[in-house]
Amino acid sequence: MSETEELERSGDDGDGVLTYRKWAAALREGTLLGQECSECRHVTAAPKVACAQC
Ligand SMILES: [Zn+2]
Repeated sequence: MSETEELERSGDDGDGVLTYRKWAAALREGTLLGQECSECRHVTAAPKVACAQC
């Protein structure tokens, strides 16, 4: 995909939030990032706006 160049230019968002862009970039490097819900501790394998559990 041609978005790799854009990913390298934008770099880190700096706020520590798992964005789709970071998640996709990590996945490309072989790391599957997850996100844990602060409400119910439900863990998802992809960043979502809302928890699928609660
Ligand atoms: Zn939850």
